[in-house]
Amino acid sequence: MEVVVAEHAGFCFGVTKAVETVYDQLESGEGKKIYTYGPIIHNETVVGDLEKRGVKVIEDPDELDASQNGTIIIRSHGVTKEVHKKLEESGLDIIDATCPFVKRIHKIVDEESNKGKSIIVVGSANHPEVEGIVSYATGKVYVIDSPQRAQEFSENVDEEYTVVSQTTFNKKKFQETVEILENRGYNINIVNTICNATDERQTEAEQIAKKADVMIVIGGAHSSNSRKLYEICSKECENTYFIQTLDDLHLDISGEVKLVGITAGASTPRNIIEEVQNYVRTNF
Ligand code: SF4
Repeated sequence: MEVVVAEHAGFCFGVTKAVETVYDQLESGEGKKIYTYGPIIHNETVVGDLEKRGVKVIEDPDELDASQNGTIIIRSHGVTKEVHKKLEESGLDIIDATCPFVKRIHKIVDEESNKGKSIIVVGSANHPEVEGIVSYATGKVYVIDSPQRAQEFSENVDEEYTVVSQTTFNKKKFQETVEILENRGYNINIVNTICNATDERQTEAEQIAKKADVMIVIGGAHSSNSRKLYEICSKECENTYFIQTLDDLHLDISGEVKLVGITAGASTPRNIIEEVQNYVRTNF
């Protein structure tokens, strides 16, 4: 039985940078208290380890009061403009680990809405990255999370719209969504802001899943990019498993299995991928 592990599995560069920033601060922060705005990644093992080392996760700026000092690290998803302002007012030192691909979207949205264009963000409205992107619009802004919503979209067709996407959106669904908007007569300027890491990860996962008899997707339960990977793989391979760690894997390999594929979301550490891979290689 062959086991194929995707090359583009696990930490992307934005997540690596954010996690490394926290560990660097723990080493060099001279005992200063360290906060992260939301869990630094969607991985309970990493977040648990950081908590043990004293890193506190803040979910709302109101949890901070002026008497606190220390450093707050903004994760790769970024935050809304309002949250950024509140963090500044808290008096804490801010380290902004927002991924440059996300910052680029903030800039596009800010510039395009300042030119008077309405903004359409293709993504999940309640995802923190999308909430951050939306906050940079100075005019009208809409969020569309699926081709179906694009069918239902009923705003002024005479306006000019700039369309961007959540960095981890499914690229096929993004294409379908913008095609529907175009076919329905909307005047849209499309900026595909799905990041390269996501694009490569999804394309490779799909290719492996097409050939695989069993496909394993490793990722956090709250990780949107991991869930999208699962969605893509399960379309191509009916025996697709979605797990967070090796403990969740209860493989039922019956019948002839020639190829097992493994991929992982952007917040999955290398050691978890290795553990799963070793387990499959040695037990089946
Ligand atoms: Fe940055 Fe892409 Fe990773 Fe998101 S998935 S943190 S945009 S590299």
